[in-house]
Amino acid sequence: MKNDELEIFWLQPPSPLQQLAHPAFARNGLRLFIKRDDLLHPHVSGNKWRKLKHNLFEAQRLGCTRLVTFGGAYSNHLAAVAAAGREFGFSTLGVVSGEESSAGNPTLGFAITCGMDLRFTSRANMRNLSEKTVLQLLNIDTEKTLVLPQGGSNCLALAGCREIVEETTTQLGHQPDYFITACGTGATLAGIASGLDGKGSALGIAVLKGNFLQKEVEKLLAACGEMETPKFQVVDGFHFGGYAKWTQELVGFINDFKAETDIPLDPVYTGKAFFAAIELARQGYFPEGASVVLVHTGGLQGIAGFNERFGNQIL
Ligand SMILES: *Cc1c(COP(=O)(O)O)cnc(C)c1O
Repeated sequence: MKNDELEIFWLQPPSPLQQLAHPAFARNGLRLFIKRDDLLHPHVSGNKWRKLKHNLFEAQRLGCTRLVTFGGAYSNHLAAVAAAGREFGFSTLGVVSGEESSAGNPTLGFAITCGMDLRFTSRANMRNLSEKTVLQLLNIDTEKTLVLPQGGSNCLALAGCREIVEETTTQLGHQPDYFITACGTGATLAGIASGLDGKGSALGIAVLKGNFLQKEVEKLLAACGEMETPKFQVVDGFHFGGYAKWTQELVGFINDFKAETDIPLDPVYTGKAFFAAIELARQGYFPEGASVVLVHTGGLQGIAGFNERFGNQIL
């Protein structure tokens, strides 16, 4: 892999910032913008592109030839790493928490097509053991290998997500009052929060239940040397039952939103974040005149797997 190949790909123009005239924002001088990171790349989409960027530079700098990482059977991160590996000539190995029978699903099928090797381990192992121990158990050798944690959520990922703030501020001509993003591990929220100049706020919509993400994001920021805790808030009321859980109301929202705006949303992350942003606006959460940037973190590859499992509900 030559250095300039990586450069060409990563130095694309910024993702579009699209103003949206949504009825929930049509009062009090509110303005809503969508940061279309879902359009950054067809397969390395959204926040996974942001999180991988500096990690791929690091892999290249260290002379690594392989990427190893972890994820669930429908993981956007696994799909993104597989695609990035194929594009830049790294071999890839994904440790999947779940059964081997899931290898036929659209996400893992795509990863295999990209050349990713898959190894399987139980969900209990992934939950209870360190990633290092899981690699040892599976006899996975890590020579010339960059090991990325689950979700790609390390400090280099924060650095990539921080660039969302700079990019958007340039596009808008000023830093927006609010950034809103879906929140899984919290690295995207932490990255955005660490890029704010003190006036703006970052809201993370938790897609998992358990009210633990506020603490998790604080820990991530501290671990990455961002000691002055920036202004951010995890909003816990919009997980629809927990990770990858859903209701008819959520699916109806996703389908209506696409019909009205032509913007597709996935059921695990962006559907919940966009639903929450609109609901918060309806409840009068944002002060008069606020500019709100809703980050479309991508994840659209997950729709195929959802439709396969639950019947073609997402149109
Ligand atoms: C992985 C993912 C997230 C979660 O990002 P974190 O940095 O783990 O909080 C949000 N949205 C989409 C679409 C994702 O794929």
